[in-house]
Amino acid sequence: MPIDATQPYDDGNIFARILRGEIPANRVYEDEHALAFHDIAPQAPVHVLVIPKGPYVSWDDFSARASDAEIAGFIRAIGHVAREHVGRGYRLLANTGGDAGQEVPHLHMHVFAGGPLGPMIAR
Ligand code: 5GP
Repeated sequence: MPIDATQPYDDGNIFARILRGEIPANRVYEDEHALAFHDIAPQAPVHVLVIPKGPYVSWDDFSARASDAEIAGFIRAIGHVAREHVGRGYRLLANTGGDAGQEVPHLHMHVFAGGPLGPMIAR
């Protein structure tokens, strides 16, 4: 069920629980500000999620409230994951709110790669 991204941060969301180590994730990268792990239901040969460690619902929330260090750290973590796929290419996607189908109310960037990724948006 898509979420309302204008709601306050819900500390019980699944990615908050992954960050706290309460449920497992197949981690591919971690640093002070960000965590990257494989999506549980991959929609491409490579499907990694990159999340900031702070409590942010969406890109607009994050860009308004996060510190410069958190923003730089998140962007660099996405770049770290993406850099492995420079040769063939990759796609970044951040769903936000109901129309975009955001299901987990913690900001996440999808990194898709590993094969042809199809059209940019469903018609
Ligand atoms: P959204 O639709 O919010 O942009 O994407 C949420 C993503 O989180 C989906 O692609 C979904 O497969 C993934 N996801 C949901 N629950 C879990 C989980 O417990 N572990 C992992 N690794 N991914 C999850």
